[in-house]
Amino acid sequence: MNYSDSERVAKILEQSGFTKTENSKNVDLFIINTCSVKQKAENKAIGKIKKYKKDNPNSVIAVTGCMIRQTGDRATSKDQLLKHDFIDIVFRIEDTAKLPKILESHFIDHDFSDFRNKFGNGSIENYFHIVPKVDNIFQVFVPIMQGCDKFCSYCIVPFTRGREISRPIEEVFVECDQLVENGAKEITLLGQNVNSYTDGGTSSEEKCFSKLLEKIDTLHEKGLSRLRFSSPHPQDFTDDVIETLVKMKTSCPHIHLPVQHGADSMLKKMNRNYTTEKYEGIIRKIRKAIPNCLITTDIIVGFPSESEEEFQVLCDFAEKMKFSFAFTSIYSHRKNTPAEKMTDEFIEDVVKKERFHIFDDIVKKHAFVQREEFVGKKLEVLVEKSSPSKDGLFAHTGRSREALEVWFESGRPLKGKEIDVKITKAQNYVLSGVLPDGTKKIPII
Ligand code: SF4
Repeated sequence: MNYSDSERVAKILEQSGFTKTENSKNVDLFIINTCSVKQKAENKAIGKIKKYKKDNPNSVIAVTGCMIRQTGDRATSKDQLLKHDFIDIVFRIEDTAKLPKILESHFIDHDFSDFRNKFGNGSIENYFHIVPKVDNIFQVFVPIMQGCDKFCSYCIVPFTRGREISRPIEEVFVECDQLVENGAKEITLLGQNVNSYTDGGTSSEEKCFSKLLEKIDTLHEKGLSRLRFSSPHPQDFTDDVIETLVKMKTSCPHIHLPVQHGADSMLKKMNRNYTTEKYEGIIRKIRKAIPNCLITTDIIVGFPSESEEEFQVLCDFAEKMKFSFAFTSIYSHRKNTPAEKMTDEFIEDVVKKERFHIFDDIVKKHAFVQREEFVGKKLEVLVEKSSPSKDGLFAHTGRSREALEVWFESGRPLKGKEIDVKITKAQNYVLSGVLPDGTKKIPII
């Protein structure tokens, strides 16, 4: 989501006369897009920002993302981040359209007259209307909703991003259509709860998310090959979505469905509003409808009060579910969340770390076996990066439709191409392979 937000911020800046630089010295303006999902992420961001200002004392530092509550600068905002004297401007991401106006008093030699009001006032609608500056035209991200109404007890997002707001289907479709016209092969639809999408919030009908998938799938005729979405919530993962995925030409045999824990008592404490039985039922239906579909998830270990027994239930659950990957976090308390107040039940760091390693080993065991099973098979890889290698060859990395990372070599750069690769080796999470005829010659595409 932050990556996608940054593309919109970049576009506004570019249109206002700024130029992107890869250099972190002699920079006029830094924009730091922050994440506040963990306290550690916030601390890290503050450390980096401080260093940018130290290395570039004359630069203007603007901060956006989940850490911001009130847009403005010292003259107009009381946001707590402005207590740091190395931060000059803060803006909520939905206020991105206001950026030229806010920057004006910090760049008095820069002419903002054409841009001051060009992008409208800060609102989520204006934000959605900004055409992003896309770095990789082949793989693009499209936000379809913002915010969250779920209030998991460990999470700050509902307080930072606000309530759920969806974009109208037509608007999302037009953006996707344009991106496919420009060469997009893979689109990832984004939202904090992507499948609780409600078509602009105006529709009382059900099945809005599957209707959106169905509509964007029609772009297959124009060249769209893969449609993904992140992240769905188990509570809203309805059967019609699975039925639609089966019919679509652009769906991929990979679903990321965060579960967070394998013990119902923990899910209740996390305020996740579903049971492991419900989660298992969804996965069973997905695997039946889409054979060989790989499932990845998010897990928190060491949540307050997690007992040895509950942790064991989580481990047994992972053995049963056979995830092909899990983003596993060690619980760390997040200020201003209900879980922060469960201090009496906090788990010792050393225990949390130990549980993390035990759990990670279980996930790896199944994930590596799954990858071994692909050796000798052919996977379609969308190349994300091609770099010169030895003997005049190029080394490529990309992802298969199953979202598996694949490495191979051939005689010319292939970024953005979908190439069949015969898998010859699985090493940990990465697969390597060769062109299907076993050579490294240039494939004719
Ligand atoms: Fe946070 Fe829960 Fe909403 Fe996800 S569903 S953004 S974890 S509150």
